[in-house]
Amino acid sequence: MTIRSTRRAFLRSGAAAVPVLAFSPSANAWLSCSDAAADAIAIPDLDGELLTDPADRAAAADDWGHIVSETPLAVLVPASIDDIRKAVKFCRQHCIKVGPMSMVGNSHSTQGQSQARCGLVIDMSGLSEIHAINPGDAVVDAGVRWFELLQQTLPLGKSPPVLTDHIDLSIGGTLSVGGIGGQTPQHGLQADNVLELWVVTADGDLEVCSPTSKATLFNSVRGGLGQFGIIVKARVKLIAVKPLARHYTAVYADVATLLADQVALMNEGRFDYVEGLGFPQPDDSYVLTIECVKYFDEGAPPDDAAMLAGLNFIPGTEAADTQPLYDFFDRLAPIVAFTKITGEWYLPHPLTDFFLPLSEAADFIESTLAVTPAIDIGYGPVLIYPFPRSKVTAPFIPLPNEPVSVLFSLLRWAPSADPAVAADLVAKNREVYEGVREVGGKRYSIGSVELDFGDWILHYGARWPQFLARKLIFDPKNTLTPGQGIFPW
Ligand SMILES: Cc1cc2nc3c(=O)[nH]c(=O)nc-3n(C[C@H](O)[C@H](O)[C@H](O)COP(=O)(O)OP(=O)(O)OC[C@H]3O[C@@H](n4cnc5c(N)ncnc54)[C@H](O)[C@@H]3O)c2cc1C
Repeated sequence: MTIRSTRRAFLRSGAAAVPVLAFSPSANAWLSCSDAAADAIAIPDLDGELLTDPADRAAAADDWGHIVSETPLAVLVPASIDDIRKAVKFCRQHCIKVGPMSMVGNSHSTQGQSQARCGLVIDMSGLSEIHAINPGDAVVDAGVRWFELLQQTLPLGKSPPVLTDHIDLSIGGTLSVGGIGGQTPQHGLQADNVLELWVVTADGDLEVCSPTSKATLFNSVRGGLGQFGIIVKARVKLIAVKPLARHYTAVYADVATLLADQVALMNEGRFDYVEGLGFPQPDDSYVLTIECVKYFDEGAPPDDAAMLAGLNFIPGTEAADTQPLYDFFDRLAPIVAFTKITGEWYLPHPLTDFFLPLSEAADFIESTLAVTPAIDIGYGPVLIYPFPRSKVTAPFIPLPNEPVSVLFSLLRWAPSADPAVAADLVAKNREVYEGVREVGGKRYSIGSVELDFGDWILHYGARWPQFLARKLIFDPKNTLTPGQGIFPW
């Protein structure tokens, strides 16, 4: 089955594109037919487009953080994998940095991770085809967004095992960072549920890799922060799901009790989804809420009393409702729509996420929230939920050295567009990060924390020599994904 998305996301400027014909190393610029340069090198023929208009370059210098802005020389909107191969080969030859970016609504990174100063941004939304939906997997272009895949699979009773809270994220983007959600306690990360990857290497070659074929490349690229190759297509796992979601919430008195119940539920597998949220209050306290979901068939709802039995929430705070499964997966859509109207969607988002060791998590979270006023979270919320280390197989996603990790996310929405406010919140993230390291935690590599080279070495810890060795094998000229700032030269 071949399903073509109707979305094409180029020509954001609205202006007619001027064909780019050449690159001038001396001018460090892409040239159109009206430009002249003695050292002009013709660019290869492309199926898609190379955009050099200032508005297109400005769009590629922005992300959901609105904190960092690095302008590329050009934006490639590929119409084929071959376009990416040719562009990467060309850039490697001329030492131009290449940053893959999910450009729809700008990238959802918040600290310039997909930007490429004076380089080439590849707008992965140009590759947006769902190639096949099979009984146990789907083959999709990297620019397909998770909600687009779900719209095709849910009518067939199938879903990817793990979904992020926001499903308007690109498949290539979340496979590159990890992809965590309320199904992670049972199924691991999205990067643990990919079966095969098509990767354009830093040489511009196309490789197909999996756990059994070219496994070194496969294990480098999933969760590899774009450092080892560009994911252009993926075979992602699908599992059978039921069409309805019974959705439970209840309030907890403290983080330790919340975590203890979440861990018990995780071990028991009672629910299909378990998360925890902290909602900041006007008095700077947090309402701690568990959120659990059981999928079910029409006419066979779960027994609410049995589902909540033995949990230690504050009596009387429990609530339950039923939703179509797609509506539950797309539950952030109304918030996105509302905050686009209020303008908050467009303010800086200096968010940060960490993985804490379970033994330290309750104390660390309580003490961090005690010094985090509501204004520092804004729309928020805070996320708190555990998952087992054993489910995470992607080697370059460092976790604490304990069997259970706890996701702790400060999903900050800045109260204004003032860059000084965002800078202050990014500095606060750094303070929290240093505390996280002291208790043996790790950063989830999305969001806004300023890191130097030494921080990245500490981040990968015992895995650093392997990470470096793979970089030297797969991207020795350090062309790929400069916006992560791991190799800043
Ligand atoms: C509202 C909101 C909710 C979110 N909820 C969750 C959540 O529940 N769980 C979670 O895990 N994350 C969540 N995220 C974070 C999200 O996973 C990251 O922002 C991630 O970067 C994916 O976004 P993207 O598809 O826009 O990728 P981008 O931000 O464009 O890319 C992420 C990184 O991967 C690189 N990259 C992108 N595409 C490719 C590719 N094809 N090949 C190689 N490298 C590539 C980029 O250069 C960049 O370094 C959320 C983000 C937002 C804004």
